[in-house]
Amino acid sequence: MKLLRHIANLGYGSRRQVQGMFGEGRITDADGAVLYADDRIAHESVRIDGEPLDPAPGLVLMLHKPVGHTCSTKDAGRLVYDLLPPRFRLRDPALSTVGRLDRDTSGLLLLTDDGQLLHRIISPRANLPKTYLATLAQPLRGHEAAVFAGGSLMLESEKTPLKPALLEAIDDTRARLTITEGRYHQVRRMFAAVGNHVQALHRERIGGLALDGLPEGQWRALDASDIERLF
Ligand code: URA
Repeated sequence: MKLLRHIANLGYGSRRQVQGMFGEGRITDADGAVLYADDRIAHESVRIDGEPLDPAPGLVLMLHKPVGHTCSTKDAGRLVYDLLPPRFRLRDPALSTVGRLDRDTSGLLLLTDDGQLLHRIISPRANLPKTYLATLAQPLRGHEAAVFAGGSLMLESEKTPLKPALLEAIDDTRARLTITEGRYHQVRRMFAAVGNHVQALHRERIGGLALDGLPEGQWRALDASDIERLF
């Protein structure tokens, strides 16, 4: 693919804007030699203002989502996309969130433009464990772990029971819950089903991947070893 189209597809600008970047000599090879719009050069060898290009299709990001941002692309309020460089919204193929976190949930959120990977992660057949830290309005009563582990809990308006889930109490009002599904508001509805209310919810982990100190509101691109830790 010609560089002009490739770089525009990565979201660095419209074709016209990228053409302008070529005109300004901002697009070079790794040795600093100026490149041209019609060149066909390996992705890895291209620099913009001296910086390597974002990964080509196959980009996977982790974001430490703060409370207050939605996973939608066009909500009126704050969006998770507002926390990323604007060019990530312009990429083609587009970057989507891998499943969703509620506006009031914080924690580990993945985004990717790799449709196959996305489906591999969210597919019910994948059974990928997701671990949440829930802060509850009422003290735990002691029966919750058995109810969640039982595999027969029915949530309102659902047709099938939930798969077994693992609850570990941290103290009276905080628990770590690991689920392998991704039903709508699942964790909040599970605690509601046992007479409690989730006051704060934070996703700590997907598969073997955790935020590992990534500050709230920050993101980083994942590499192949991160992806391996997911599964
Ligand atoms: N379960 C919920 O209730 N909310 C989330 O954001 C994620 C899981």
